[in-house]
Amino acid sequence: MENPYILPEQTPCYVDGEFIYTDQYVSNTNPVNGQNLGQLCEANQALIEQAVTAARYAQNHTWGKMTSQQRCQLLHQVADKIAENEQAFIQAEMADTGKSLQQLTQIDIPRGTANFRIFADMVKSYAGESFITEQTNGDKALNYTIHKPLGVVAIISPWNLPLLLATWKIAPALACGNSVIVKPSEETSSTMYLLAQIMDEVGIPKGAFNLLLGRGEVVGDPLTRHPGIDAITFTGATKTGSQIMKNAAANVKPVSFELGGKNSAIVFADADLEKALNGVTRSSFTNCGQVCLCTEKVYVHRSIFDAFVEGLKQRAESLTIGYPTDPDVFMGPLVSKQHRDKVLSYFQLASQEGAQFITGGSIPVFNDDRDNGFFIQPTIITGLDDDARTNQEEIFGPICHLSVFDDEDEVIARVNNTRYGLAASIWTDNLTRAHRTAAQIDVGMVWVNTWFLRDLRTPFGGCKLSGIGREGGQHSLSFYSQTSNICIQIDN
Ligand code: NAD
Repeated sequence: MENPYILPEQTPCYVDGEFIYTDQYVSNTNPVNGQNLGQLCEANQALIEQAVTAARYAQNHTWGKMTSQQRCQLLHQVADKIAENEQAFIQAEMADTGKSLQQLTQIDIPRGTANFRIFADMVKSYAGESFITEQTNGDKALNYTIHKPLGVVAIISPWNLPLLLATWKIAPALACGNSVIVKPSEETSSTMYLLAQIMDEVGIPKGAFNLLLGRGEVVGDPLTRHPGIDAITFTGATKTGSQIMKNAAANVKPVSFELGGKNSAIVFADADLEKALNGVTRSSFTNCGQVCLCTEKVYVHRSIFDAFVEGLKQRAESLTIGYPTDPDVFMGPLVSKQHRDKVLSYFQLASQEGAQFITGGSIPVFNDDRDNGFFIQPTIITGLDDDARTNQEEIFGPICHLSVFDDEDEVIARVNNTRYGLAASIWTDNLTRAHRTAAQIDVGMVWVNTWFLRDLRTPFGGCKLSGIGREGGQHSLSFYSQTSNICIQIDN
């Protein structure tokens, strides 16, 4: 079965208001059946220079000079157009990622629209500070702050939630008056191309939004080294973040990093077992485990461990895997062969480390074109120490490890025994325990009796190897603008 969205044979970059075809290509593969979908035109050094120059021009002469109200009206039009063209976005995202229709219609595409709306609305009430300063001679001073754009922001985004995560940065950066240069993942650039068309149609001034396609080392690396960039915002792997930080250091540029995770769920004996089982099924296997917030380690109280193992096994085995176009399908394929090889190597490592496989551990067989795609089974393992590599390294696939725990202090220490610090979920019906435990987990986000419930006004981000800074609501506005203090002498 073919996906109905056909990529243009060559997907162009978009720089200074023009769609630009280069002579270097990266091929795009359909993860459902391994077939070629087309090619991306990869940006070269000259195009990177052109994008930086155009973005600076827009900053100094057009986009940066508009009123906040004018900019926000245009961003609402962008949101309207994404909503009007929802089907094209769904099809493009599905072609690139193989993610299920369920997820695309419920999460990815509506969130792309919502990102533009919320930041366009929030920036209007982004207030500054003011102080009256009393001087010893009786004079006073009025101190007040204003928010200005940073300038030209480089946005580097990953393949797992392509539209959602790129617009999570594009929308607030533009709302704050910056120009942006976006470098999406080379695996999943199609929805950014559709977004470029919308930016063009609604009349975002040329140079305010630029799209550079291509590989990280060829395009992302020189872009993040470029002295004409004023800030870098990145979502992706911790290792890549570390490299980008070195690039940013040379020009002392601010960075916002949303990086990898190794997230835990804790299921206390007093949890509503049904809800916890459904929640952990969702948190472990949504998007084939390819969400930075997904659970890879589950700590279950000894008294309910056996019942939990049985319930999770049943649920994992009843998840529908298949063509993402089928409305009943929960899990499509992993994004690429390379990524599936990585996840399979962790299945092998877990086995070598002595894990018992409760379910899964291999590739499903369909006896049709899907056997050339990159599908994998939802997998549950147990029996490993917390220090095993399988329990310490981010796998980013549909796999979770189940461990027994006995008491609260023990489980908190074990959950914190990781170099990552992105998210955690706690399942309990004891409210006091929920508050007490949540505050002691070293992560940026804790969910209690739910998972991935997002209010876009709340801070999002991680600690330790999981990131630097927070985005979301005021935190995004704060990163994407610079604050100037103005001090006015008032004579007595
Ligand atoms: P990745 O780091 O390989 O790639 C992310 C982006 O960086 C891509 O656009 C890529 O082309 C670019 N890139 C690669 N090398 C580069 C370089 N040297 N210089 C500049 N850019 C470069 O990550 P991925 O495999 O696309 O995404 C999966 C990772 O992202 C996982 O680790 C996941 O946890 C993380 N992630 C984190 C969050 C979060 O919010 N914390 C959200 C989603 C994904």
